[in-house]
Amino acid sequence: MSVRQIPFLDLHLAEEAGEILAALTRVVDSGWFVLGPEVDAFETEFAELSGIAHAIGTGNGTDAIAIALRALDIGPGDEVITAAMSATYTALAIAMVGARPVFADIDSERLTLSPAAAEAAITSRTRAILPVHLYGQPADMPAFAALASKHRLALVEDCCQAHLATCAGRPVGAFSSAAAFSFYPTKNLGALGDGGAIVTGDPSLAARMKRIRNGGQTDRYRHQEIGVNSRLDELQAAVLRVRLPRLRGRTEQRRLLAAAYRQRLAGSPIVVPIEKDPGHVYHLFPVRTARRSALQAHLRSAGIETLVHYPIAISRQPAFAAIHPADCPNAERAADEVLSLPLHPGLPLSDVDAVAEAVQSFAPHSGKEQVS
Ligand SMILES: *Cc1c(COP(=O)(O)O)cnc(C)c1O
Repeated sequence: MSVRQIPFLDLHLAEEAGEILAALTRVVDSGWFVLGPEVDAFETEFAELSGIAHAIGTGNGTDAIAIALRALDIGPGDEVITAAMSATYTALAIAMVGARPVFADIDSERLTLSPAAAEAAITSRTRAILPVHLYGQPADMPAFAALASKHRLALVEDCCQAHLATCAGRPVGAFSSAAAFSFYPTKNLGALGDGGAIVTGDPSLAARMKRIRNGGQTDRYRHQEIGVNSRLDELQAAVLRVRLPRLRGRTEQRRLLAAAYRQRLAGSPIVVPIEKDPGHVYHLFPVRTARRSALQAHLRSAGIETLVHYPIAISRQPAFAAIHPADCPNAERAADEVLSLPLHPGLPLSDVDAVAEAVQSFAPHSGKEQVS
């Protein structure tokens, strides 16, 4: 008898397959592929759903962060403080504009940038703070807004894992000058390829970011400043427009599944993610154990696929070793302990049951492990 397989994710088109194919056909038939009506409409619709006045489509989430920094005139000689635990792309975006990423430790429970650690990392070269809403949990934005205004620093949010998340009741992206989203296929809102967006409440910053993503052009063939080539294309925008109206429902589904995991894992030997804000959108559900590889092997033998987000703190990435060798013990410990369980809107509750049961049967005699 073969074990039932529970994949980490399923990116096959779901019930919207027909609509997506129709949208793709519409773009193909239009003969217009870059910066056209689909991107315009998506920008309007995404801004509206996100609760922020302006949205600008970009080629991906990394570029979205970099374009936001550029538009704030951040570059060589400047430092940007960010979380030691995130997708490394957050830090790559800072490096792309020639600035220096400065890694500060995360809060051991929230797993997002610690405001105290960020403040301690401020120097005379610091220009911006870049918190990441990691795993869909919003960083402590009221604290960062206060910190940024106290030290007169720019604030940019990495919302790549946090579509429709709220923090203290306000949408993510509302606390900063500009906020970046990714539509990489595995994100809460995913395209059929790469895509991203920046949101801002500031119309002049929006205009500047629109210009920068399109080579710095003010008019066709007139390059006012040194921009980049990073545009969301019409095909991806059309796909995203099909999925956008479903995002709220799918976010609720993620919350429901997370609540189910939480309930079924109570009393288990592993530590479940701590929800610090009900605006959490559960991009991922990373549990923690000091015996991660044993838990991963145990689940694999039960047919359950898990992933590690992320196995190396950014501050320990070889690529950044020469830049800023910061000690970030909370991030380093999280990198050793986190294990993401399957969680996506199409996951049946019966799979949550099966995963939770498998976790509960892991090392039943070891007791709860110490985490902090
Ligand atoms: C995915 C992601 C990025 C990068 O987005 P891309 O679209 O892949 O460039 C940046 N930061 C975080 C937190 C992410 O999850």
